[in-house]
Amino acid sequence: MKKRVGVFVCQCGTNIEANVDTEKVAEYARNLPGVVYSTTYKYMCSDPGQEMIRNAVKEQQLQQVVVASCSPRMHENTFRRAVEAGGLNGYLFEMVNIREQDSWVHHDRGEATRKAMDLVRMGVMKVLKNKPLNISTIPITKKALVVGGGIAGMQTALDIAEAGHPVILVEKEASIGGKMTQIDKTFPTMDCAA
Ligand code: SF4
Repeated sequence: MKKRVGVFVCQCGTNIEANVDTEKVAEYARNLPGVVYSTTYKYMCSDPGQEMIRNAVKEQQLQQVVVASCSPRMHENTFRRAVEAGGLNGYLFEMVNIREQDSWVHHDRGEATRKAMDLVRMGVMKVLKNKPLNISTIPITKKALVVGGGIAGMQTALDIAEAGHPVILVEKEASIGGKMTQIDKTFPTMDCAA
C-alpha cells in the first residue's frame, strides 16, 4: 500500500493550544516516515476544518490520515466521513487524543508538547498498518440466549425481553437465582434475598 500520510493537528481554540505547541507538533510530524503533509487548524471539526481535510486528501493524494484532537468519542465519525468525502477508505484514518489525554491533564507546555508528539507518532505508525475495511450488512435473528440464571443473567434476560425480543434463559441448576438464593438477607435494607 502506498504511504502518503496527512497529519492534522487541532488547536481546539485554546483548549489544546494553551498547553501544547501545535505548530511544533505539526513540524515534528512532517519528518515522520510516510508523512507528506502536516498542518494545524483552530477548530478541526468545524465545516472549514473538515473541508481542509477533504481537500488535502484530494490535492495531496493522501493515502492515510491522522487527526490529533479530542477523544474519538467526540469526532471519530466526523473525521471518518471527511476522509471518505475526500475519496479515501474511512478506516485508513486514526484519531489521536491530545486534548483529554494531554492538554487537559498536563500543565507543563514542554512536556505536554512532547507527549503530543509521541501520540502523533504512534498514530502515524498505526495508520500505516491499517487496512481498508468495508461495512457489510447481514441479516440477524433478533432473539437472545442468556447462559446462567443468576442475578446478572436474570436482569439481562429481563432487559432484552423489555426491549421486545424473545429470550431463552439457560440455567444448569434446578432453579434460577444463583448465589443470591443462598443468602438470607441483603444489607442495608435487610430484604429477604430470595
Ligand atoms: S475536533 Fe475536537 S479538539 Fe478540535 S475543535 Fe473540535 S472539539 Fe475541539
